[in-house]
Amino acid sequence: MVIILKPKTKQEEIDKLTNELEGEGVKVNPVIGTDLIILGLVGDTSKIDALKIEANDIVEKVMHVQEPFKKANRLFHPDNSIVDVNGSEIGGNKLAMIAGPCSVESEEQLTFVAEEVKKLGANFLRGGAFKPRTSPYSFQGLKYDGLELLKIAREKTGLPIVTEIMSPYDIEIFERDVDVIQVGARNMQNFDLLNELGRTRKPILLKRGLSATIEEWLMSAEYIMAGGNENVILCERGIRTFETYTRNTLDLSAIPAVKKLSHLPVIVDPSHATGKRFMISPLAKAAVAVGADGLIIEVHNNPEKALCDGPQSIRPNDYETLVQELKAIAAAVGRVL
Ligand code: PEP
Ligand code: MN
Repeated sequence: MVIILKPKTKQEEIDKLTNELEGEGVKVNPVIGTDLIILGLVGDTSKIDALKIEANDIVEKVMHVQEPFKKANRLFHPDNSIVDVNGSEIGGNKLAMIAGPCSVESEEQLTFVAEEVKKLGANFLRGGAFKPRTSPYSFQGLKYDGLELLKIAREKTGLPIVTEIMSPYDIEIFERDVDVIQVGARNMQNFDLLNELGRTRKPILLKRGLSATIEEWLMSAEYIMAGGNENVILCERGIRTFETYTRNTLDLSAIPAVKKLSHLPVIVDPSHATGKRFMISPLAKAAVAVGADGLIIEVHNNPEKALCDGPQSIRPNDYETLVQELKAIAAAVGRVL
């Protein structure tokens, strides 16, 4: 962090600020020129509140030279992190292929889709039991009954289950029953939820918020990690832009950006990014080509009758084609399916 002081700041004021800052555990290196006075802060500045410093009358400007996230930062953890989910890895050479319906609807629907996607190459099963819907009149998910059906599907297929948590009150149940706890885009900045998830050791799939910057997203990962849970997987699922043709705009540039800034695995959700079935395959391929560690894709046996997100759900035979086509792209970037 670099603090630029107003010209002609008195030495006693510089000393006072320096003492305050050093009291917070950093070393202050002053550069006193004729026009500019600069204080360079060395050490762990993550707990220093830049806005509080800026509120000081003698301060002109505060500049960050390092990202505000520490545990998620590649600088302090140069190797890629691999998240272990009961023996299945996310972030290694093998792509995480998470597939399944948007919502858990019935035992027949879920086990059918689970068995299909497993046969076709998926290594994780998705399915929402608690659904964050824009309208309170839309299907809200089967909730706890949905979790039971996910457990049945896991039992039948051996696929680990990925499902969304909406409330911190449900942490104990999710910790017991779920393999990867998903934090939805709408809850990316639900800091109470993130703090609670930091206390568990469960893998967390953290979706990017609807309008979150990459830094805000990584700061949310930092919340979970600061609590002691380093098992975080990021998921780019499209962001709000002025474009209305697609449900969201898939920010593929976020993948290499996150890879540079962080050591955490990052996967892509082309389903919620586009909202359109015909765009899933091309964007899934593009995601793997730019370095994504996996894909989470909505697959439904009967999309016309889906209780949620039918238009973006692909059928098992589309998934089969996609998996086949992805193999060459994965191989070209040194990954396997
Ligand atoms: C989902 O994956 O079911 C979902 C609701 O996604 P998002 O939070 O990205 O909208
Ligand atoms: Mn959905």
